[in-house]
Amino acid sequence: MRLSQFHLRTEKETPADAEVISHKLMLKAGMLRKLGAGLYTWSPLGLRVLRKVEGIVREEMDAAGAIELLMPSVQPRELWEETGRWEKFGGQLLKLQDRKESWYCVGPTHEEVITDFARAELASYKQLPVNFYQVQTKFRDEIRPRFGVMRAREFLMKDAYSFDIDEAGMAASYQKMHAAYTRIFSRLGLDFRAVQADSGAIGGDASQEFHVLAESGEDALVFSTGSDYAANVETAHAAAPAPRAEPTETLRRVETPTQKTCEDVAALLDIPLARTAKSVALFAGETFVLALVRGDHAVNPVKLAKVEGLADYRMATEAEIAEYLGSTPGFLGPIGAARAIRVVADREVAAMADFVVGANATGFHLAGVNWGRDLPEPDVVADIRDVVAGERAADGGELRLVRGIEVGHIFQLGRKYAEAMGFKVLDANGKATVPFMGCYGIGVSRIVAAAIEQNHDSNGILWPAAMAPWQVAVCIINPKHEAHVAEAAEALYRELRAAGIDAVLDDRGLRPGAMFADIELIGIPHRVVVSARGLEAGTFEYRARTAAESENLERQALLTRLR
Ligand code: ATP
Ligand code: MG
Ligand code: MG
Ligand code: MG
Repeated sequence: MRLSQFHLRTEKETPADAEVISHKLMLKAGMLRKLGAGLYTWSPLGLRVLRKVEGIVREEMDAAGAIELLMPSVQPRELWEETGRWEKFGGQLLKLQDRKESWYCVGPTHEEVITDFARAELASYKQLPVNFYQVQTKFRDEIRPRFGVMRAREFLMKDAYSFDIDEAGMAASYQKMHAAYTRIFSRLGLDFRAVQADSGAIGGDASQEFHVLAESGEDALVFSTGSDYAANVETAHAAAPAPRAEPTETLRRVETPTQKTCEDVAALLDIPLARTAKSVALFAGETFVLALVRGDHAVNPVKLAKVEGLADYRMATEAEIAEYLGSTPGFLGPIGAARAIRVVADREVAAMADFVVGANATGFHLAGVNWGRDLPEPDVVADIRDVVAGERAADGGELRLVRGIEVGHIFQLGRKYAEAMGFKVLDANGKATVPFMGCYGIGVSRIVAAAIEQNHDSNGILWPAAMAPWQVAVCIINPKHEAHVAEAAEALYRELRAAGIDAVLDDRGLRPGAMFADIELIGIPHRVVVSARGLEAGTFEYRARTAAESENLERQALLTRLR
């Protein structure tokens, strides 16, 4: 590719409305353009990266024996009535009518459609096990789409669905997907972790999520250094029923809860102290502030976003939090830099006050305050309490909290969908039996943003090699005026491509500073500069994106380096 023939359009300024670094950098690098809330056009540059991710996902799904197909994104209501999810799925389901006034939804997921396909196509155990997958656009009407493609409304997902004759078969299919996901995220060069998860609106029994570890992640994960134990803290709150409306008066009684222990907070609020908590809640007048503590003691801002009816909130600064704390920003030092979400709401306040943590200068008192919800208390809750209390885990290891971005999710669904939709196959004895299903999602478009959250510096993106739009940029200094330099760069570019190296030629004729800034911003792993001076010395200037200095290399040394 010659950049003069490509559409590359970077921005000098950092976009003001983007909150997280990946969103900022994707806009700045010109990978995305916003069309509406949670709706994005992928520019040619963005699409190159998206396709790299998609390609790896597809290769590993194929290698694991899954078979690709493609289902419609618009799905008839009747199908969703069969499983009861037309009503149960909730506000994320975008419903629409056609000219005959029949109802449809834009698929947020495809269990119904695949089960409909399966019941028409599969009749015998001999056709099982089978695993169908697609890479397709999903639509979810997220309450608060944000962070660019990280939480979009329309996004690209790889979704796979396995069918087995019995439970053991389902478990084996699930394990295959677990292994495939491990290979996918390893090949993508991401630092990730698989954790136990809540199966949410999809339902079913066993389920695990794959998370890209990043401080900005919406999810809090807990893991033990002494065993394989790892879970999404969210699992502890899976079955929370609708919150009870509680007057804000109660909240106002707490003036500086962070100066108190959890017990104190609970006593002040006159509510039972029981559950886990992940945040510092502060109340002042009509305003509810939830301080989110970054670092090891992480919390989950998405909890707020998940509460219906939340109209208006924003991130508060550390100084604002300190002000509410009646403290100085430095106070937050021992527990890490803090962010907060201020919720301008009144009736919503009680709904959001799920979790309260008391923190003071000596540490972080994990809390367990919750009102209006009767939460189950799985082990993970006790575990988290232990983390903060500094006790050890049952397995002898330390329990740690990290933050993650959910990029994949695998589920053992059992017979739930097949049963609801009357899908049976004949078993070896000729008896009709309901098959066992699994389903497996990967957020293909979210991965692109997650990779940037994990890999960037002050100059821009640092793509893992497998995701980079190109591997090498050949930059020409002054191509318009120095024909021999342009020719030498052309020759090198062609030689690299012939050697199977995905090179791009920067022949736009920009000044070196602007050219290098672009190449760094868009995260090309290797840069080679071809200049008159270098050619005279018989060298090319080479620099790895992550290196502090460049080196002058002769042609052969350069080729060896890049191979
Ligand atoms: P989240 O907890 O982030 O809302 P989810 O649990 O609702 O995700 P799943 O139903 O498990 O999502 O879907 C499979 C994958 O699709 C997720 O693991 C995630 O990577 C991706 N995904 C889900 N919602 C979005 C979204 N709004 N934008 C981008 N990717 C998404
Ligand atoms: Mg979701
Ligand atoms: Mg989730
Ligand atoms: Mg999920």
